[in-house]
Amino acid sequence: MQFDIITIFPEYFVSPLETAVLKKARQKGLIQIRVINLRDFAFDKHKMVDDRPFGGGEGMVFKPEPLYRAIDALKAEPPAPWVVYLSPQGRLLNQNVVKELYEKRRLVLICGRYEGIDERIREYCIDEEISIGDYVVFGGEVAALVIVEAVSRLVPGVVGCKDSVEKESFSQGLLKYPQYTRPREFRGWKVPEVLVSGDHARIARWRRQKSLEITLKRRPDLLKKASLTEEDRQILRELGWKE
Ligand code: SAM
Repeated sequence: MQFDIITIFPEYFVSPLETAVLKKARQKGLIQIRVINLRDFAFDKHKMVDDRPFGGGEGMVFKPEPLYRAIDALKAEPPAPWVVYLSPQGRLLNQNVVKELYEKRRLVLICGRYEGIDERIREYCIDEEISIGDYVVFGGEVAALVIVEAVSRLVPGVVGCKDSVEKESFSQGLLKYPQYTRPREFRGWKVPEVLVSGDHARIARWRRQKSLEITLKRRPDLLKKASLTEEDRQILRELGWKE
């Protein structure tokens, strides 16, 4: 999986890309991440990448020329990338969108700042806009990192245990069951007895039940799209679910 990130703050990525799982995944060659400084594509004396908006108003807008050159240079390299502009106006990111992005195999991620980027680049040069949520952050860098992390988790070998990716929240349309670790009792709070019973079939049933219960309580909207068995539906009905 390859990521090319276009930003005016390349230093923003130094620590996240050099830490823990992303660092190891890069070292193993499972993912490739390049951070491209947009200013390298600004050919004027001051390396200007932004300018005031036509029509007046607050803030600055990324000029089209440096962005166009940067995207064009990246598109010239195979394999053809999927070009994403991180934007609060984009399609909301969720696990299904993450899977779609993973299938593209190469992503160009454009990080905006200030008032965003010239509309002509949005119209003619990008494949889609993605939002990490209905709120506004300072810049696209944090959103690009969210995509890099979420997509990298799907690359075989990046997460040590394949099971943990397949069974985590959202991967099966449900939230994940609760987890406990040692000690068995902490301040009088005990671990559920079933988890220390050694009975794997019972543990699996308990976990499925908890997953359904938690999803119903916290994110009932997810149940509409989750793949549920008749037994799951029965459990949910007993918990008060109205189909
Ligand atoms: N004026 C823009 C608007 O109202 O849509 C917001 C600009 S924001 C301050 C600067 C940059 O941060 C954007 O160009 C975008 O790249 C990024 N950004 C802000 N919020 C985001 C979000 N929710 N998802 C993805 N990117 C976001």
